[in-house]
Amino acid sequence: MLNLFVHGTVTEVEPIAERMRRVRVSGPGLRELSWTPGAHIRLRVGDPCRPHSWPQGFLRTYSIWDYSPEGHLDVCVLDHPAAGPGASWSRRVRVGDAAAFIGPKGRFALREGAPYHLFAGDETAAVAFGAMLRALPSSAVVHGVIVADGPGDRLPLPLSDRLTWIYRPGELPDAVRSLDLPGEPGVAYLAGEVSACQTVRGHLVGERGWSCRDVVVKPFWTPGRRGMD
Ligand SMILES: Cc1cc2nc3c(=O)[nH]c(=O)nc-3n(C[C@H](O)[C@H](O)[C@H](O)COP(=O)(O)OP(=O)(O)OC[C@H]3O[C@@H](n4cnc5c(N)ncnc54)[C@H](O)[C@@H]3O)c2cc1C
Repeated sequence: MLNLFVHGTVTEVEPIAERMRRVRVSGPGLRELSWTPGAHIRLRVGDPCRPHSWPQGFLRTYSIWDYSPEGHLDVCVLDHPAAGPGASWSRRVRVGDAAAFIGPKGRFALREGAPYHLFAGDETAAVAFGAMLRALPSSAVVHGVIVADGPGDRLPLPLSDRLTWIYRPGELPDAVRSLDLPGEPGVAYLAGEVSACQTVRGHLVGERGWSCRDVVVKPFWTPGRRGMD
């Protein structure tokens, strides 16, 4: 039978922010994977052999924070209050555990030749943004806003002097509206909670006159829905 899963072992687990754990998966099967910054994996966070867990699903989607072709990749998992199988996995996972995932996959990726790059999203989006920002030259023109619960949620992002973190109850669309952006459109990368992404996209297209093609959107989660891909 065709095995879609890449198998490895958990070799590092550490808090990377107050509510987020970085988990490294390593192994020979992870060498020379094809990926682009912004891509994600579908990680096995439950046991498919336990039928009582089926209603929740046993795969969850996580962006690749960093990858080494020598055979390891890192994901960063938010421990959010509703804690489904993904957040629960991040609480119990230990060095030495087996890990399996599908991917890397996804088309959330940098656009070459953009006059400037605008990143907007929440703390989950910041993981994908980290990989994308690392891939940009230091001369790249970058703007960005990330919304989180508090300063403890901040991830160590490259080019961080060009990004603004705001804290709830502050809202992402308001923060993007107040950004002092160049007159002409750049390329926007929007990710995180669905309705915030939609509102920011509506603002860029409807109020700033950007073309839909200038806005790359990847919804990551929405209240009440499990395990979006
Ligand atoms: C392409 C892609 C990349 C992603 N990358 C990351 C990543 O790098 N790191 C990361 O932590 N997440 C990431 N996510 C989001 C993550 O897959 C979801 O948050 C997922 O729902 C978490 O699974 P769970 O089992 O913990 O909760 P689920 O069982 O899926 O959901 C239970 C409930 O929890 C609530 N919920 C889900 N996510 C959140 C949240 N972020 N904040 C508050 N409440 C929430 C919802 O109400 C949901 O109904 C990504 C999603 C996609 C599609």
